[in-house]
Amino acid sequence: MSVFHDLTIGDHRLMCPVCGKAPRDKTMGVTILDEQHGIAHCFRCGYVESRREQRELTPAERKAFAQRMEALRRNHDAEQRQRQAEAAASAAVRWVSAQPAHDHQYLRAKGIQAHGTRIEGNALMVPLRDTSGQLHSLQFIAADGAKLFMPGGRTRGCYHAIGKPAGKLVIVEGFATGATVHEQTGHAVAVAFNAGNLLPVARALRSKFPCIDLVLAADDDWKTDGNPGLTAATEAAKAVGGLLAVPNFTGLPRGDKDTDFNDLHRLAGAVEVTA
Ligand SMILES: [Zn+2]
Repeated sequence: MSVFHDLTIGDHRLMCPVCGKAPRDKTMGVTILDEQHGIAHCFRCGYVESRREQRELTPAERKAFAQRMEALRRNHDAEQRQRQAEAAASAAVRWVSAQPAHDHQYLRAKGIQAHGTRIEGNALMVPLRDTSGQLHSLQFIAADGAKLFMPGGRTRGCYHAIGKPAGKLVIVEGFATGATVHEQTGHAVAVAFNAGNLLPVARALRSKFPCIDLVLAADDDWKTDGNPGLTAATEAAKAVGGLLAVPNFTGLPRGDKDTDFNDLHRLAGAVEVTA
């Protein structure tokens, strides 16, 4: 793919062809020096594309290139911080206006308690906080289980805590999985919300609790290429000196979508989370 097509000489911010979601999602900086020389770099996923023809750049040109890209990155970071601050402010208002959850169709469907979630309209709201307890964003879960984050809100390194850590802390992907793990084992749980956030959350919790046993309770995405859940949990466990727990469906009538400890609980009744 070429992102250089139709771009004029100068600096640009564009949607990334790899991780971009919409044209206004401008996470990629593009610096074009002349017809033959350009570089594109996504500040979110790291995708890089360069156009280099005929002659090598001089050291001075190379340095100027790097400085322009750095300026684009600073713009991007400042915009992202601004969006995240706006989302956090809006999350705070919506959170205090919402009612503590007692009963919701999703909780009933998953056979779990509310664990500090709230209700807004028909949605179950799960808060995303950093290690200092600061609220950054919200996840909305509809009655049918469809999940949505606040646009622009920070996710990275944020989690929803269930229970107080005492010696052991279990990190999971989803709220229902976390609720089940806490209810079945009594261990404190951090819900990281997605596989890509397991590592940032594990690192943040390792800094906050240097001496605690961290357990990564994996989603076993057995029908998905590359098993993203198990792969990410394994990596995160390694990175923070943690343990890995994988749901064991042996001998159970496992469906294609049965991947996590909540699914295991619904099939098997009691659940052990052994690392
Ligand atoms: Zn990207």
